Amino acid sequence: MEQVNCDLCGGKETRPVYTVVDNNYGTPGSFSLVTCTACGLVYQNPRPTAVEISAYYPTAEYHPFRALQEQKPPEPQELHWKRAKRLTALQGPVSVLDVGCGSGLFLAAMRSLGWKVCGVEPNPDVVQYVRQVLQIEAYEGDIFTVPEEERVNLITFWDVLEHTHSPTAVLRRAHQLLQPEGYLALNVPNWASIERHLFKERWIALDAPRHLYHFTPQTLSAMLRACGFQPLVVQPQAPVLSLASNMLRWIGDTFLRQGQSKQAVLATAPTPTAPPAPSPAKQRLIRLVHLAMRPPNFLFNTLNRGSAITVIAQKDNIV
Ligand SMILES: [Zn+2]
Repeated sequence: MEQVNCDLCGGKETRPVYTVVDNNYGTPGSFSLVTCTACGLVYQNPRPTAVEISAYYPTAEYHPFRALQEQKPPEPQELHWKRAKRLTALQGPVSVLDVGCGSGLFLAAMRSLGWKVCGVEPNPDVVQYVRQVLQIEAYEGDIFTVPEEERVNLITFWDVLEHTHSPTAVLRRAHQLLQPEGYLALNVPNWASIERHLFKERWIALDAPRHLYHFTPQTLSAMLRACGFQPLVVQPQAPVLSLASNMLRWIGDTFLRQGQSKQAVLATAPTPTAPPAPSPAKQRLIRLVHLAMRPPNFLFNTLNRGSAITVIAQKDNIV
């Protein structure tokens, strides 16, 4: 574990917010979230070092890697197409680097729309999958592995920035790799969301200890500006199933596990395997839950307090 200063302002003074456990994958330990008293950035401190953190990513069941267990290459999903079309409308198909590209489905959608695509991903098995099955160029590592010559018009970070040990270093690197007036598109959980206020230490998006940082629209915009970007769109919007997932988790923790943490339950469980595809009945249930969640999501989004923040920013050349 290591102690760090605030990544946004360099401040040392903090106050504690939550002590949290890994409610999503049940890895051992408890973790402290603090807020910087100077700028308001929320971060984990102390935290696992860059080397230690890999032990907290259970590869077989970690959700971005599930496509690896499919028999044939899966198709991009609605969310991938939605993002791809929105970004294509912004500047037409040019070149894109997806940082933390997971199983590559967003890049597959972008390629179908005419973009020159490449990705970078730390997990070597996933990189091999993206190269061999999807035939997409991918580097193994992080944004610092991507060579300087790889200049692109767009860099995307989907559910990535909160996992990095220094988001400011990552954003500055993105600035170097972008063409003049290039764009950045990313999303992160919204610390200012109604869901975080409702579920507190049990908010799914805390995802301790993998999420090292938590942003509000204000702290994220300040960080983007500090790293040479002009935020064009800062949109707090919830994925439609986010609230339902939180409610199910809360019910599970409170009643089904009867006070036992997921950590304790997992400790006695056999090694997990990949989840099976949902049955038709389960698919119908998911559709119903989708419908039921629309009104509260609409309300949260209207109040600008949705559980995730989507950002589009442009490289500011005066830095
Ligand atoms: Zn600070």
